[in-house]
Amino acid sequence: MVSEQYKAMLSGKSVIRTLSEFAAKRGEEIGYENVFDYSLGNPSVPVPQEFTDCMIEMLQNDNPMELHGYSPSLGIPSVRAKIAQSLNERFGMNYGPEHIFMASGAAGALAHAYRAVTQPGDEILTFAPYFPEYNPYVNLTGAVLKIVPADTDSFQINFEAFEEMLNEKVMAVLINSPNNPSGVVYSEETIEHLAGILREKEKEYGHDIFIISDEPYREIAFAGVKVPYVSGYYDNTISCYSYSKSLSLPGERIGYVAVNPACRDAETIVNMCGQISRGIGHNCPPSIIQLAVSRVLDKTADLSVYETNRNLLYDCLTELGFTCVKPGGTFYIFPKALEEDAGIFCQKALKYDLILVPGDTFGCPGYFRMAYCIDTEKVERSLPALRKFVKEEYG
Ligand code: PLP
Repeated sequence: MVSEQYKAMLSGKSVIRTLSEFAAKRGEEIGYENVFDYSLGNPSVPVPQEFTDCMIEMLQNDNPMELHGYSPSLGIPSVRAKIAQSLNERFGMNYGPEHIFMASGAAGALAHAYRAVTQPGDEILTFAPYFPEYNPYVNLTGAVLKIVPADTDSFQINFEAFEEMLNEKVMAVLINSPNNPSGVVYSEETIEHLAGILREKEKEYGHDIFIISDEPYREIAFAGVKVPYVSGYYDNTISCYSYSKSLSLPGERIGYVAVNPACRDAETIVNMCGQISRGIGHNCPPSIIQLAVSRVLDKTADLSVYETNRNLLYDCLTELGFTCVKPGGTFYIFPKALEEDAGIFCQKALKYDLILVPGDTFGCPGYFRMAYCIDTEKVERSLPALRKFVKEEYG
């Protein structure tokens, strides 16, 4: 007998992946350049040249046993030390290498964080709209993911709904800012309010409640927008970072867990991550990639294209009458659909070769996501299609 649990998941395939496969197929018919594929959050700008140069230099000059050997289970010590130092300089924190655990992207980092702070049956709360992969990520650990409905006016946190859902079983709150899919950055006020509630509830329930802060878009913030560093506001915070988006390195699977030194049992949690790796096999991320990212910690890919694309789309969508919160970062925008059922709305858009993702999949029906990590030239060419779609279907 094969596993019923995983077999059952085959019928719940990711909507985003399905749409992206549809886009690729349509591309075979009309040329992919003519498909306005806003489905997938795959970075569209290359890794910085410094990273490539550094890889070449290492491959030519460094010890292959070191570059291609197993990493220690918590990560390479020099890399952990450099990351700690960089976070301290940027965010006024107090990390040591002992607070950093190297992981395979944000997915790998999150897999460790959930397991470190929950037991089967415990609850983790997250806020709609949310990244749909959180469902399998959390539910396969034995903990239970519960979704707090969205505050659709601002896509900050719906605190009223949140406070109603808090209960003694909640061991962690999972947040993602800048947010996929809304593109919204949680304000300092939001983070402070959240921290205040959690501190009170920790006292009331007599146990810790951790913030698991999923931060793959931390570096993708647009002009004038500050991304508050969550650990600076709440002691029991575990940051899960990834280089997938900031360095355009999603295929290399590299990121880390940073446990706030002020967190209870901070070092123990990091050491536990090493043990969790043994169980889930998400262990020892590639040594060469750890070493390479540690040499370009202050660099990012050229992220400016995302802001250009955001501006083009936001202006066009609002001009067309869409209700839309202006994204402060990421490469996503999350407008309200022009009819109640966003699934039908997105289905109609396909006729215009516009691939949009219904908000239902992000726990926010009635909205849709556009991932604008595509060339600006293509965004520009998609605008007439968007105008035509709106005029013909809703004019
Ligand atoms: N969290 C969010 C909000 C994401 O959007 C993604 C990827 O798109 C991930 C986590 C996983 O990122 P990674 O590629 O670093 O595993």
